[in-house]
Amino acid sequence: MSETPDTPEGRPPSGAPLAGSHILVGERDEATAERLSRTLRTAGAASVHVVGSPAAFLRAGADPPPPVRLWDAAVWHAGLTEDHDELAQVLGRWRGQRPGVPVVVTDDAPSTRLAVAALRGRAADLVERPDADALVAALARALAERADQLGVEGTGQKSLRMLVVGAHPDDVEIGVGGTIHRRAHNGWDVTILTMSRGGGGGDPAQRRKEAHGAAEAMGARLLMEDLPDGSIADDRATVQAIERAVAEVGPDVVLVHSESDTHQDHRAVHRATLVACRKVTRLACYQSPSATVAYQPNRFVELSETDVEAKLAAIAAHHSQASRRWYLDEDLLRSTARYWGRFSQTLYAEPLELVHDSTPLGYFNADYA
Ligand SMILES: [Zn+2]
Repeated sequence: MSETPDTPEGRPPSGAPLAGSHILVGERDEATAERLSRTLRTAGAASVHVVGSPAAFLRAGADPPPPVRLWDAAVWHAGLTEDHDELAQVLGRWRGQRPGVPVVVTDDAPSTRLAVAALRGRAADLVERPDADALVAALARALAERADQLGVEGTGQKSLRMLVVGAHPDDVEIGVGGTIHRRAHNGWDVTILTMSRGGGGGDPAQRRKEAHGAAEAMGARLLMEDLPDGSIADDRATVQAIERAVAEVGPDVVLVHSESDTHQDHRAVHRATLVACRKVTRLACYQSPSATVAYQPNRFVELSETDVEAKLAAIAAHHSQASRRWYLDEDLLRSTARYWGRFSQTLYAEPLELVHDSTPLGYFNADYA
């Protein structure tokens, strides 16, 4: 609908209640939207993006328009939904996409029934629409609570650490190259651990060089072990190699091959990772070309066109493999990401099979992996 400029005329002091935040607003009335944008900008918001329908609200929630990477909070006018059930549904879907990003609901004359619906949808607050001061105060409270959960001062994200484990060079690029790029781009610290040097598929020195180029294309750093390609075991040595990486990285999230995979090396690395990462908060499995139909993803990481391009660039960095492997065909990689996009209601996505998650609710901002 409309967007206020990115550079405010008079930059607010850094102590402003909404300093540096990016706020999505669902509001159909243009005059109200403009007034609201001005109020939020004056209170320090770095950007305010206004949409006029539930569909546009959820779309913008899933894929913030540049330069916004992540929303800090949202404002939703109750009049935009048909009834209270729809309001609770929209808030529920928002939470599915953006768990931890607070929504403040506004209404001209909030009723008890509306308050119940907002509560059911776990809105951060409910305020009367013309009351700008109350809205700014509610947003500031919600942002402060979220900052507490994230363990950071002010708005923004704690730098999360992700370890991605693969048996062979190019495994993680194919499985979660887009996810790695997206998280690294969002400020996560991403490390790839490759368990072998790929001697079964070419010259190990060449493959090592390619793997480093690929990691760089995704914004991650690379650790390489030297287990025997084709006969990796789920034994003590494999577990210890992964434990060393876990001790070094201290990951909040680990991604690895699935148990549902026809490649013995992939299954061995999966099992050894489960043991080595028994104390890691969150562990999920990506899809390899050798995954079986038993692979059952339950999380979908939305990808932008840029993430898909980075994934393809990382895979192309494996020059020695690109022309030899059917599963490295660009059309297949792109259409697979397009297919999984149907589950996250975005154009592209990568699937994950969540194995365990002991994260306190609301700790992670928006992202499942
Ligand atoms: Zn592999």
